[in-house]
Amino acid sequence: MLLILNEEQEMLQDAARGFLAEKAPVAAFRKIRDSKPADGFCRELWLEMAQMGWAGIIVEEEHGGSGFGYVGAGVLAEQMGRNLTASPFFSTSVLGATAIQQFGTEKQKEENLAAISSGESLFALAVDEGPRHNPGRITFSAEPSGNGFTLSGAKTFVADGHVADRLIIAARTSGEEGDTHGITLFLVDADAPEIVRERTPMVDSRNAANIVVDGLEVTGDAILGELDGGYGALEGILSAGRAVLSAEMSGSAQQVFGVTTDYLKEREQFGQKIGSFQGLQHRAAHLATEIEMMKSAVLKSLKDLDADFDNAGMTCSLAKAKTGQVAQLATKEAIQMHGGIGVTDEYDVGLYFKRVHVAQQMFGDAGFHSDRWARNSGF
Ligand SMILES: Cc1cc2nc3c(=O)[nH]c(=O)nc-3n(C[C@H](O)[C@H](O)[C@H](O)COP(=O)(O)OP(=O)(O)OC[C@H]3O[C@@H](n4cnc5c(N)ncnc54)[C@H](O)[C@@H]3O)c2cc1C
Repeated sequence: MLLILNEEQEMLQDAARGFLAEKAPVAAFRKIRDSKPADGFCRELWLEMAQMGWAGIIVEEEHGGSGFGYVGAGVLAEQMGRNLTASPFFSTSVLGATAIQQFGTEKQKEENLAAISSGESLFALAVDEGPRHNPGRITFSAEPSGNGFTLSGAKTFVADGHVADRLIIAARTSGEEGDTHGITLFLVDADAPEIVRERTPMVDSRNAANIVVDGLEVTGDAILGELDGGYGALEGILSAGRAVLSAEMSGSAQQVFGVTTDYLKEREQFGQKIGSFQGLQHRAAHLATEIEMMKSAVLKSLKDLDADFDNAGMTCSLAKAKTGQVAQLATKEAIQMHGGIGVTDEYDVGLYFKRVHVAQQMFGDAGFHSDRWARNSGF
C-alpha cells in the first residue's frame, strides 16, 4: 500500500488549504473563543463547507454525499487541524455519517444521510459516562417497555452534544457494566423534553456537553444496528473517529512544528540565531522524524478504513496512540522552544497545545491505545 495521496485527494487538499486559510484561519477560531457564541462554531461557514461537499465527504453519492471516503475526510481534518477550524465536521460528518452509512437500515439512511450531506442536520455520539474513555463501561439503561424501550442515564464529553439535532446513544439493553455484549445504539431526536443537555466549557474552547436522559420512550425503529450487538458497530464508529481525529492532530502538530522551526531560524540570542544551537537542532530533528512516522500511521489507518472498514480497528488505534504522543510532544516542544512565551495569548502555539490536549484524550489517549494494541497482539 502506497502511503501517498492520489491526484484527486491532492486536489481536495489544495482546495481545503486555500478555503480554510481564507475563511477559517486561527484568527476566526480566536473570535469564536473570545465571543463564545452559543453554537461554538459559525453556521454560515458550515453551510459553505457543506456546499463544497465536505459535510457529506464519506457519504456515498446516491445519498447526496461526495463519496471521498476516509482518506478524503482525513485530508480535510488535517487542514482543519492546521487552522484550528471549529465546525461540526467531526461529530456529524465522521461519527454521524459513519454510524448511519455503515450500520443504518435503508430507511435510516434515506432519512439522515442527505440531511447530513447538506449540512442541515447535526449529529453527536454519546458514549462515555465517566472522566476517561471506556466504551465497554456503559450503564445507561434501555429498558424494554411496550413495543420499544425507555432510555435513562447520563453521558459525558459528548462532542457537539449541545447543538446536535440527533443523538446516537450507546445504551445497555442487557448484561452488566463492563460487558461488551448487551450494548445497543439508539438514534434519537436531541430536542425531546426528556433530554437535558448542558454545555461543558473545555480548555480547547470547543463544544462538548453533558447529557442526562430521564425516561425517554422510543420504538424499536430507533435502534441503529443490532439489538445487544451494538458494541461492534460502536467500535467501527469509534475507529473512524479515532483515525480522523488523528488526522486533525497531525495537522496541528505539523503546523506548530513549522511555526517553531521558523522561530528557531529568526530568534537571536547570545548574538546568534537560536536555531544554530545543536541542542535545539537535535530536538527539532527528533520531532521531524516523529512527525513523518505519525503521518504514515494516520494515512494507513484512513486507507484501511476505506479498503476494509470492519478490520481497520487496530491501525486506527495505532494512529491514535502515535498521534497522541507526537502531537503532544510537538506542541510542548513548541512552547519550550519559544522560550515559554508560546503559552501567551499573543502566540497561536498555546491554542494548538490546548486543542491537542483535549483531542488526544477523546476516544482514548496514547496509553489506552498502546494497551489495546498490546493486548490484541497477545502481550
Ligand atoms: C510571557 C511568558 C514567558 C515565559 N518565559 C519563561 C522562561 O523564559 N523560562 C521558563 O522556564 N518559563 C517561562 N514561562 C513559563 C512560566 O513562567 C512558568 O514556568 C509556568 O507558568 C509554570 O509555573 P508554575 O509552576 O507556577 O505553575 P502554574 O502555571 O501556576 O500551574 C501549572 C499547572 O498546574 C495547574 N495548577 C496550578 N494551581 C493549581 C491548583 N491549585 N490545583 C490544581 N491545579 C493547579 C495549572 O492549571 C497548570 O496546569 C513563561 C511564561 C510566560 C507567560
